[in-house]
Amino acid sequence: MTNALAISDLRASVGSIDILKGVDLQVPFGEVHAIMGPNGSGKSTLCHVLTGKSDYSASGSILLDGEELIGTPVDERARKGLLQAFQYPVEVPGVGLEEFMVEVGSARGIPADELERRVAASAETFSMGNFLDRAINDELSGGEKKRSEMFQISVLDPRVVVLDEIDSGLDIDAVRQVAEAVEELRSPEVGILLITHYSRILRYLNTDKVHVMMNGRIVDSGGAELAEELEDGGYEAVRSRLGIDAPRPAAAVVKADPFSDLPFEN
Ligand code: ADP
Ligand code: MG
Repeated sequence: MTNALAISDLRASVGSIDILKGVDLQVPFGEVHAIMGPNGSGKSTLCHVLTGKSDYSASGSILLDGEELIGTPVDERARKGLLQAFQYPVEVPGVGLEEFMVEVGSARGIPADELERRVAASAETFSMGNFLDRAINDELSGGEKKRSEMFQISVLDPRVVVLDEIDSGLDIDAVRQVAEAVEELRSPEVGILLITHYSRILRYLNTDKVHVMMNGRIVDSGGAELAEELEDGGYEAVRSRLGIDAPRPAAAVVKADPFSDLPFEN
């Protein structure tokens, strides 16, 4: 099976801080893979490095359908079909959703009639019909914003979709709806990487594989049984099975004195 995304020995740092320490991961076309990991394990950094955010220096290899992305700019990666849904979608007052999709779609060279057809079809699939004339994300609930992100991605013909914490901050009904929207994005032409802190969204999804990220590495990969282990015993269960030490609590590392110290390292 061809891989939509093939990551090997991916390392990333900011200044002298190493964040990703050799990530290996393959997502075949047609599959949905989840990455779970505790806070600070490097999940969002992985998203940023995949999409090409310039704050990070990255090495290793990221192949999108066999083509190397390392060293290419953000917009080129997006044009090749690597699309990300944001953890905190921004509100863009004054810019209508449909207007925006027409603008972005035509910039990508999608013919006008094809674009119109796609916007209508995706609006139906993701129940976004009522939002097309409204400003992007303006006054939308958390779940509606996430649906809007997936609607926008689906119009733009994705090959690899990265969903960062698509479920955080949502109530359980919204989590279920977002999971359904992820299943709608699934197609034989797309590989989906869903990043989450909580296992509950996995109850509503047919994830093909679950990967656990800790301290900048994928430490374990598996199927439903791994999701269950996480659901029952949390990250601690995985740590103790693999013999990984829990990170020291931040308070023990940085002792802030409110009168003389800054609470954060500069
Ligand atoms: P997660 O999404 O899993 O919670 P992140 O990828 O956001 O984790 O962060 C991983 C680690 O890298 C954290 O310790 C975070 O503070 C650090 N980090 C991420 N981005 C930067 C940055 N731009 N500058 C300094 N440290 C960063
Ligand atoms: Mg994050």
